[in-house]
Amino acid sequence: MKPRVRFAPSPTGEPHLGFARTALYNFLFAKSRGGKFLLRIEDTDRERSKKDYQEKMLSALRWLGIVWDEEVVYQSKRSAIYSKHIQLLLETGKAYRCFASKDELQKVRKETNSYLYDGMWRNKSDEEVKEQLKKDTAFTVRLKTPRSGRSYFEDIIYGDIKVLNDEIDDFIIVRSDGSPVYNLTNVIDDNHMKISHVIRGEDHLSNTIKQLFIYKALNLKVPQFAHLPMILGEDRKRLSKRHGAKGLSSYRDEGYQPEAIINYLAYLGWNPGTNEEIMDLPKLVSKFDLSRVQKKSAIFDLKKLNWISSQHLVAQANKEIFNSVRVLHPNWGVTRSDNYCLKVIKLLKPRSDTILQLVDLSDYFFSDPKEFSDKDIKVVWGRDTLQIMSDLLKILEHAKEKEENYFEKEIGLYTKQKEMSFGLVIKPLRLAICGNTSGPSIYDIIKLIGIETSANRLKYAIEALRYDYV
Ligand code: GLU
Repeated sequence: MKPRVRFAPSPTGEPHLGFARTALYNFLFAKSRGGKFLLRIEDTDRERSKKDYQEKMLSALRWLGIVWDEEVVYQSKRSAIYSKHIQLLLETGKAYRCFASKDELQKVRKETNSYLYDGMWRNKSDEEVKEQLKKDTAFTVRLKTPRSGRSYFEDIIYGDIKVLNDEIDDFIIVRSDGSPVYNLTNVIDDNHMKISHVIRGEDHLSNTIKQLFIYKALNLKVPQFAHLPMILGEDRKRLSKRHGAKGLSSYRDEGYQPEAIINYLAYLGWNPGTNEEIMDLPKLVSKFDLSRVQKKSAIFDLKKLNWISSQHLVAQANKEIFNSVRVLHPNWGVTRSDNYCLKVIKLLKPRSDTILQLVDLSDYFFSDPKEFSDKDIKVVWGRDTLQIMSDLLKILEHAKEKEENYFEKEIGLYTKQKEMSFGLVIKPLRLAICGNTSGPSIYDIIKLIGIETSANRLKYAIEALRYDYV
């Protein structure tokens, strides 16, 4: 049977990496088996749910290319359906009203030395209930859970999960303000949406047991469950801002491409069992299998994300990168032709992890360096540099009328003739022309910015650094 899965975020915070990974695994699982991936917004918590977060979530999914099938289901629009189910549970005696006040519950907890509800309203007579209703006493609705025996389910990733039933109390399914709790709405909606597999974070394992009781009470078909390992920081603590648990939009603003984020997240808790690490979404779909999802927590590794990102960037078409750059920086390269910008991208993409880094590295393609750092000068500008650079300037000026690789060849001859190391020549030349000490081939740069610009820059540096040497 083709699976139907859903991603069911609560719009109570910025969408982050964990959010995206759960969505992705659901998507990959569904698509790898020709099934459907649905989206449900669990927005019943009126105080904490924010429209802004909801919109950010939808736009994050779109950006990542995690496209949902069918219409989005909003829980806030389904209260009538929940009420019907609550009514049914009350009528069939599977749930009951609890009129205990907070103070009363507190007192019992102290007396019994247990956080579990002691069932004080579980077996009250109809008269007692009616009396309280007449008095308009506030109540919650609690599920009548089994008092003995064991419950268990088989998780696709974690295997057999067992609990002793008396470890779970008659938990609240409707709050005193009449609003149904997550565990109840979640079950009703998964059933309504005909969900075959529930794939979500491992932090929901304890909810799953409670939900099983609700499935049973409502006589609904239980889906299969797969709980995903947590994502931890390198210090094995829960992922937090400190570890890069920033909102997904920060990654976008930092110039990570969605393909790279998707690829990285796919490997955060799963691997295909081969050495292959760079995959796009269709390839991931073809390889993904829940049985290869690990149990142990996944560790967030920024270095790996950057590496994956750099691999995607290098494989991406220059034109596509150009479009992405312009989305982040609409004015990048506008002083030059598109063709020139594409050549800059070609030279810089093998040296960049992200779009933003590429942009940061690209300054010298668009403006002449006017300042040189003391640190760089110290490293590359020696006693003889001025003479060498003056010689190079002559060669460069001469190169104007010559064939394409003339300059490159002449520098080769020059260093040979003077029995000089190549670095002695090239490093200060790079500093003069680019204002830094590393980058793509200096000959490629000169070819792109042009002999004249290069000669002018060299002239400028010779003047500016006339008295600087170590
Ligand atoms: N709204 C829940 C959450 O965001 C959904 C959990 C589930 O997938 O059932 O954690």
